[in-house]
Amino acid sequence: MVGLVGSIVDFKGLRTGLGMDVHALVPGRKLILGGVEIEHHLGLDGHSDADVLAHAISDALLGAAREGDIGKLFPDTDPRFEGADSLVLLGNVAEHIRCCGFEIIDVDSVIAAQAPKLSPYRDKMRQNLSQAMGIDIDNIGIKATTTEQLGYEGRSEGITAYASCILVKKQ
Ligand code: MG
Repeated sequence: MVGLVGSIVDFKGLRTGLGMDVHALVPGRKLILGGVEIEHHLGLDGHSDADVLAHAISDALLGAAREGDIGKLFPDTDPRFEGADSLVLLGNVAEHIRCCGFEIIDVDSVIAAQAPKLSPYRDKMRQNLSQAMGIDIDNIGIKATTTEQLGYEGRSEGITAYASCILVKKQ
């Protein structure tokens, strides 16, 4: 197996990335995760549309490419990004790291939220993320978990997203 993969990929060109993001849940805002508007009485607060999943994935990609983080690319002090569609930002991140010579191999993620139930929205989120990053839907994983009512997620004060990715540097 190692020999087979090694013959296709130069291991020195492989990079892993890790991203994490948190936004507060508040009344009067939309809940948008993976570009999907989810029915809920609370939404995520933030400068952009506060899509924690898209932000965590963006940071995983930028981390793997050693290109800083989403705050460096899209500062929340910049009025151009007020209310921004985070899928568009993720698309820009994917384009940026491709320009740096990287190809996205695989992305996995976890959303920690006490409510609402997210599994009905999973495939639509994967489809949106696939389109935004220009990779196959099979290479995008999304899992959701509660925190058993523990911590800020458990008290429905906020939602956390974690993401990991593998990139390869093109020769
Ligand atoms: Mg964020």
